[in-house]
Amino acid sequence: MTYSAANGCLEGKTILITGAGDGIGRQASLTYAAHGATVILLGRTTSKLEAVYDEITHQGSPEPAIVPMDLASAQPLEMQEMTDVILEKYTKLDGVLHNAAILGDRVPVEHYDMNTWLRVMQVNLNAVCIMTRILMPVLRLAPSASVIFTSSGVGTMPRAYWGAYSVSKYALEGYAKLLADEMQNTSDIRFNILNPGGTRTRMRAAAFPTENPMTLKTADELMPLYLYLMNDDSLSEQGQTFTPDWLA
Ligand code: NDP
Repeated sequence: MTYSAANGCLEGKTILITGAGDGIGRQASLTYAAHGATVILLGRTTSKLEAVYDEITHQGSPEPAIVPMDLASAQPLEMQEMTDVILEKYTKLDGVLHNAAILGDRVPVEHYDMNTWLRVMQVNLNAVCIMTRILMPVLRLAPSASVIFTSSGVGTMPRAYWGAYSVSKYALEGYAKLLADEMQNTSDIRFNILNPGGTRTRMRAAAFPTENPMTLKTADELMPLYLYLMNDDSLSEQGQTFTPDWLA
């Protein structure tokens, strides 16, 4: 499908992006802001978030906000405090792009380091589930909120040696579908899954060190899909999984 989002399609919307300092999250933040959104940039490296903040203000988009937060250690209280500030400053939250993730080890489960396992499950799954739960009241205040969960090919179909990363994404897809089922008749929030597929980023290079990155699509090429799921053109989508094939 060829899709082109309308200019200004996110005007008046406030959108939280996790892992906003690098890779796909950085590109999505710039793109959402360029389409009129006020973006809240959440990540663990403040200097990277500040660089994205500067790019957004330089391109003349609405002033973003920065939330330094390490999802490996963030407690519910910290997420609640962020939610309270969102309510006070923006009165509602129109979208969340759950994008931050870590790769962990790619070894047989028998050899997997259990501290790494716990960290991957915390960042990729538990923090996402808990944050979504805590943000629910401010998402309900928006007329048509969109929550996007970022999965992976090894989340749709678990794959040997991908360990906690694969399991975390598989469970995340389950969580998205559970929420879609649970809330489709009782809220205006939609929950969908986006698997970006192989994309030229730092994480991909770490996962496939011998691959030529120039053979991969860029994060920028994915943006029509990221825009579709975040703006009101996708109001009827609920509990669906999207891949870049959608753009083909
Ligand atoms: P990157 O590693 O390039 O970026 C990940 C971002 O998440 C970084 O900004 C990173 O922050 C942030 N992050 C990592 N850990 C934490 C944490 N503990 N707390 C807060 N922020 C954190 O990854 P990609 O852009 O490639 O991936 C984005 C999403 O797409 C992920 O969910 C990934 O699983 C998924 N995906 C990517 C594919 C690909 O080929 N690239 C393929 C399939 C799925 P910092 O920069 O400070 O480390």
